[in-house]
Amino acid sequence: MDLGIRGRKALVTAASQGLGKAIAFALAQEGVDITIVARRKEVVEEAAQEIRKATGVTVIAVAADITTAAGRSAALAVIPEPDIIVNSAGGTPPGDFRQFGAEEWAAALTGLMLTPIELMKATLSGMVQRRFGRIVNITSKGMRVPGNIHPLGNGARGGLTAFVSTIAPEYAQYNVTINNMLPGPFDTDRMIKMAEFSAKQNDRTFEEEVAIRTAEVPAKRYGRPEEFGATCAFLCSSHASFITGQNILIDGGSAATTF
Ligand code: NAP
Repeated sequence: MDLGIRGRKALVTAASQGLGKAIAFALAQEGVDITIVARRKEVVEEAAQEIRKATGVTVIAVAADITTAAGRSAALAVIPEPDIIVNSAGGTPPGDFRQFGAEEWAAALTGLMLTPIELMKATLSGMVQRRFGRIVNITSKGMRVPGNIHPLGNGARGGLTAFVSTIAPEYAQYNVTINNMLPGPFDTDRMIKMAEFSAKQNDRTFEEEVAIRTAEVPAKRYGRPEEFGATCAFLCSSHASFITGQNILIDGGSAATTF
């Protein structure tokens, strides 16, 4: 299927590895010119080079912390009028909520809620004028099935989720959609760190923890980042203009709920 977005321009944040990189790759394979952002310069430049070489599209690497005003300015200076924005950032530390203070909460809210909102604020009017816009925020399965180890992340992402439900309908008439994607367990560095944390908490080896986590997924495996990337590319496609304000769960069947 041709996704109908060849020649569009996308900003994908937190995209030098993991889910963000897979999304950038999937969009690039559809002929979208890409700007990717991550903090480590060599890693983001290497990812850009890999995507450029494999797809032939223009890929610009921005080494910046997207959760800061300066980082967002640096990204938007390179791509002031994106057609597509995929918002992601690093996750928050897991743990009991009583161990986190104002500083940790401020970082969580800034990274997972206010940063995507700031990027939407800076770009939505242009998308409305051009009558095309796709915004996808990477949140988490925790928005549907919270679990108990991510009070910070789920708290902050809950704010973004409610915000998106509030504003998305207004933009549908302009062919501008805003959706959230909710990853369950995907095979990335972040997932390795989370398994290490749970292994320690549950007094298991890392291998035991991964085996248990994998067995709990009805698909009996972790998700592959490229599966996530392909779904995101579809949500950004010309065919998805009637899908907005949604929370799309991709978790191998883990959340056994009717809705
Ligand atoms: P990952 O493999 O750890 O990759 C994170 C990426 O984000 C890296 O490229 C990192 O590069 C970049 N990054 C982190 N903080 C940044 C910042 N402040 N500014 C710019 N770039 C930043 O993570 P992932 O597994 O792909 O996860 C992506 C998102 O999905 C996270 O928010 C995570 O919590 C969420 N999620 C993932 C899963 C899963 O199974 N993987 C499940 C649920 C939710 P630098 O370090 O160089 O900046």
